[in-house]
Amino acid sequence: MTKKFKMYIDGKWVDSLTGETFKVVSPIDGEIIAEIPVAAKEDVDRAVQAAAVNKESFKLTGDNYRSDLCNKIADEIEKRKEEIAHWMTMEQGKPYELESLPEVEESILNFRIAAEDIKRIDGNVIFSNDPNKKFFTKREPNGVYAAITPWNFPMVIPVEYVAPGLVTGNTMVMKPASLTPITVLLMAECIEAAGVPKGVFNVVTGPGSTVGEAMVGHPMVDAVGFTGEGVTGRKIASIALLKRMLLEMGGNGPQIVLDDADIVEAAKEAAFGCYMNAGQVCCATERILVQKNVKDQFIDELLRITKEIKVGSPFESGITMGPLNSEETAKKVDTHIKDAIKKGAKIICGGGREKGFPTNLYYQPTILDNVVPGMLIHDEETFGPVAPITSFETDEEAVQIANSTVYGLQMALFTSSLKRSKYFSDRLQTGNIAINASTCYWEAHQPFGGSPGTESGQGRLGGMYTIYDMTHIKTVSVDFEKCK
Ligand code: NAD
Repeated sequence: MTKKFKMYIDGKWVDSLTGETFKVVSPIDGEIIAEIPVAAKEDVDRAVQAAAVNKESFKLTGDNYRSDLCNKIADEIEKRKEEIAHWMTMEQGKPYELESLPEVEESILNFRIAAEDIKRIDGNVIFSNDPNKKFFTKREPNGVYAAITPWNFPMVIPVEYVAPGLVTGNTMVMKPASLTPITVLLMAECIEAAGVPKGVFNVVTGPGSTVGEAMVGHPMVDAVGFTGEGVTGRKIASIALLKRMLLEMGGNGPQIVLDDADIVEAAKEAAFGCYMNAGQVCCATERILVQKNVKDQFIDELLRITKEIKVGSPFESGITMGPLNSEETAKKVDTHIKDAIKKGAKIICGGGREKGFPTNLYYQPTILDNVVPGMLIHDEETFGPVAPITSFETDEEAVQIANSTVYGLQMALFTSSLKRSKYFSDRLQTGNIAINASTCYWEAHQPFGGSPGTESGQGRLGGMYTIYDMTHIKTVSVDFEKCK
């Protein structure tokens, strides 16, 4: 059954001023599950105006008050955990028990972390050349904050902006991806139920090219947070100009397996990194670089684990991989696999769509050997359940291949050597490196983001680090002699 949703602007649930809507189709069975407003430019303006009107008053509320608000939002989400996870699986396609419920739980955790972090922000007391004076620094919210998010993690990525944004006193306008807008609209209901003042948090829905650009270009928006593709990030930066920006973009992180590693463990973590969320993760294991003398052993182990992956309806218990989210994503995976085979890669297993499902979006977990630079699957982000294997002989060569990408988000290294750990962590051009863990290993409070000089973005998400990015330092000098 199709459910009709409204946008949340200035504390009211509203349709678009034009009455225009779009449909959300479930990747599970191709059914239309929701009808969502297409915001007009005037709707975006109303949302930004509401955030702007409330900017000063919300900033001046106490830190304890906003900390409590975040805990209340977490409580409200907790009450509706199963329902939200259900809709997430319906719109995104990820397994309900294995991935959607944990994503809602991680979202709750993010609100609780923000509620704690706000109490730990400190400032500096800095000397002055004038003995009667001191400088003090304090953090203030960026102001009206526009957040634009992708479809692969429909809740936790929006929350990565909303929790630190609200707790620090930003007022917000948020736009979820059009493929997965439902989860954010349900989160907005929780935010309303928690008692967040009207106008402080707003959601507009619709295409990035109109709604997103209207948000980013709006003169009353002070800062922009964006997670999505590199090409979109560039476009946003060209519109946002001097606005504060936090950009989290794509990745092509390899997992590097050295010959002194625990190969069984390395294969297990590679499978997790390649197949979690059907490979639709910014820090997915997009490439696997394996030292030549352990490659056969690694592939045997990876193949054994891959055969255990159960593709099917994400609501069925025991299913470990659901459908890809859209035909566009599946087509890109097809193209990358075809290109790799044409250029000499060898299929170890999989290589195409699964048959016999209600949609054509169920994909075979795929292992490709003999992958080399110059293949699309090596050079670009594939975003599908593929394990592309490249072999190398020396550590220098592994570093060179790992860095031969425009991305630098998350990489992983498997080794038992401290010396080699240091060698690689000093030389890999990446914002994050996991040693003896998957590229898909992260914790909610750690700093996460792209390396400078790459297409992976700027700024850091995660716990206190987002709080730093979503606030600015105000410096206050005080002349004590002239005070009473
Ligand atoms: P996308 O860039 O197509 O869309 C992301 C959001 O931007 C959507 O809400 C979309 O509507 C909006 N948008 C599109 N064009 C816009 C424009 N011109 N102006 C303003 N907004 C616009 O990305 P996607 O396909 O939804 O997500 C997948 C990408 O996100 C992958 O590249 C993935 O690596 C990346 N990602 C990065 C991280 C990270 O933390 N670095 C996390 C998850 C996903």
